[in-house]
Amino acid sequence: MNVLGCIVYKHNPWLVLVAVLICGTGSWVTARLVRRAFATRGMQRAGWQFLAATTAAVAIWCTHFVAMLGFEPGVPVSFDPVLTIVSLLIALGGSFLGIFVACSGMTRAAPAIGGALVGLSISLMHYTGMTAYRVEGIVTWNRPYLVVSIVFSVVFGALAFDRASRRPALNSEGGEGNAPSARAQVAAVAALLATAIATLHFIGMSAFQIEPLAIDPHVANSAALEALALAVAGMAFIIAGAGLVSYLLDDSVRAESVEHLRTMALSDMLTGLPNRAGFNERLDAEITRTAAHGGKLALVGIDLNRFKDINDLRGHHAGDEVLRILALRFKSLVRDDEFVARVGGDEFVALRRFQRREALDDFLHRLEAALFRPIRYDDWEVISGASMGVAIYPDDATTQTVLINNADLAMYRAKADLTRSVCFYEPKMDEMARARRSLAADLRDALARGQLSVHYQVQTSIASGEICGYEALLRWEHPRQGFISPGVFIPLAEENGLILSIGAWVLREACSRAVTWQPPCKVAVNLSPVQFAHDDLPSLVAEVLAETGLPPSRLELELTESTIFADRERSLETLQRIKELGVNLALDDFGTGYSSLDTLRSFPFDKIKLDQSFVSEAESSRQATAIIRAVLALGKSLGIPVLAEGIETQDQLDLLAGEGCDEVQGFLLGRPVPLAQLVASGKLSLLGAAATEPAPPVAAVEVAAG
Ligand code: C2E
Ligand code: MG
Ligand code: MG
Repeated sequence: MNVLGCIVYKHNPWLVLVAVLICGTGSWVTARLVRRAFATRGMQRAGWQFLAATTAAVAIWCTHFVAMLGFEPGVPVSFDPVLTIVSLLIALGGSFLGIFVACSGMTRAAPAIGGALVGLSISLMHYTGMTAYRVEGIVTWNRPYLVVSIVFSVVFGALAFDRASRRPALNSEGGEGNAPSARAQVAAVAALLATAIATLHFIGMSAFQIEPLAIDPHVANSAALEALALAVAGMAFIIAGAGLVSYLLDDSVRAESVEHLRTMALSDMLTGLPNRAGFNERLDAEITRTAAHGGKLALVGIDLNRFKDINDLRGHHAGDEVLRILALRFKSLVRDDEFVARVGGDEFVALRRFQRREALDDFLHRLEAALFRPIRYDDWEVISGASMGVAIYPDDATTQTVLINNADLAMYRAKADLTRSVCFYEPKMDEMARARRSLAADLRDALARGQLSVHYQVQTSIASGEICGYEALLRWEHPRQGFISPGVFIPLAEENGLILSIGAWVLREACSRAVTWQPPCKVAVNLSPVQFAHDDLPSLVAEVLAETGLPPSRLELELTESTIFADRERSLETLQRIKELGVNLALDDFGTGYSSLDTLRSFPFDKIKLDQSFVSEAESSRQATAIIRAVLALGKSLGIPVLAEGIETQDQLDLLAGEGCDEVQGFLLGRPVPLAQLVASGKLSLLGAAATEPAPPVAAVEVAAG
């Protein structure tokens, strides 16, 4: 008997150790599984509940059973098989019920109630197990110990489950996986549960007193009982292990899902390239790295030149395909320290750390080659082209935002400059960008405020010297800056879509004027590629002709080769529809773009306008003269008259006349002037007095709104 007044029996220390191990391991695995059950819903929760309850029951029952087998009362012992199985069923049923209640969310105390039920089932299991324990002696029970043991298991069970139901703080990745707080919680729950099981057993055993009838130390704990204990322990570890493996598997699947989600969040679905978020993250890291290790970092903003046309003319499928093909090219060209991301519709960005400028130049060349290589899709081919702007850290900017902004500015500069596809940031671009933004804002109001007007430049036949028509050229008189060149404001209007309303207004204005002209010569109106891509162009032309009463044969529409190149098939159809109206078509600025014979053969042009650059260089460059001759010969062979633009001197006129050019246009023959000036000079007279009023801007604004 010990100091507390209870009998101290002998125990097999190894089996007691095994029981303690089962209790600790089982409680630890159960703690993890229960926490997972609390954190999930639906079928997943049911699965975790099942695993948690099974592991808890095994931990409870096996601890008890192995400890019982390690108990050496010094008298022969046996186990009642039915009651032993009933004790196992109690552990199972109690654990299932307790965990179900704990997770039910019925009340805020549900976890504690569930835990108390598990604690109760530990007691019930233990004492049922004890009644299955048959010894040759008189058994008596110490009631206070019995009560204390039950109270302990119920209270610690309740505490364990209540603790398990609380959410630990999330870790930095938004998960709780291995966060220290999560681990501490598992440890606390496991300790409470183990205490519930262990206190019940050991206090319960103190309540159990035997008055042996025959003491024979050799009968107890035979080898068979030890083997049984080890078998039970083995099973307990296997089951707890299975629970743990499920938990770990689930953990790794979760980690993979989190990684997958992270990759998805940082990459562009269409192309598989990193997206804006991925780019921001990388830029941040690259800036930090460059700042720490020295060197420079180039940020390249890339904007495709013809993407909108491709989308408009060929549909979004084609646009997507172009982006995918370009992305594949980028992926195959980037090296270790290079990076390309898609950050918007047709916008890409590239990063490259470098020490020597040649390395950056090489990267830019590779990007350029990828962007300007023809893209084949189905039965058509397109060269997307792009404008690239480069800003360098730390030379041009020391923060992420300013670096991006400066690369953008350089990119806009490249967009505006047709001769360069790559521009490097320069500090003066800031000022230019501000001016451009304010000009674009002013242009929005220009039409409504009557600041736009049309000037007319004469086109003359060389053979007869007669006027054959006038080209309508748009003018913008800015209230503060005076006349602004169409070369400046037309691209602005194209960028923000204003060209649709402005272009419609020019067409209406020119046609309504031309209808009053005497002699009734032609009027040529320029079309922007943006207008051309607009579905309603043939309808707009028909509508304006009907409205103004201008005979279609007196209207000539000028478009450049690049306008039609993006989608030849659709262009042909649109041109055909316009042609069917009886309107003439002129190919403007010929010689500067693709200069393809095919374009001239397959499209129904009525005139070729030879670009002024050849005329201005004709006297000094043999090559220019050769091109003029070639274009004139081409026109002759196809039966299309050629008009030479930009005639400024008599020599130029003589040269073109000598080469057999059909028509000319240029300052020598007349600058673009307001209609009133043409009338005043007597070259043109108007039918009806009201004809000098400009066309109302309202209708044009409606087009923009539509
Ligand atoms: P473009 O259609 O090739 O027009 C001819 C340009 O050459 C005009 O410039 C004209 O003023 C200029 N020019 C004519 N003769 C000579 C000459 O002898 N020497 C020199 N150096 N230049 C001469 P402008 O008016 O500045 O227009 C520039 C471009 O803006 C036009 O080129 C055309 O592409 C565009 N544009 C003008 N008006 C409109 C319009 O209403 N709609 C659209 N979409 N574009 C327009
Ligand atoms: Mg023109
Ligand atoms: Mg031209």
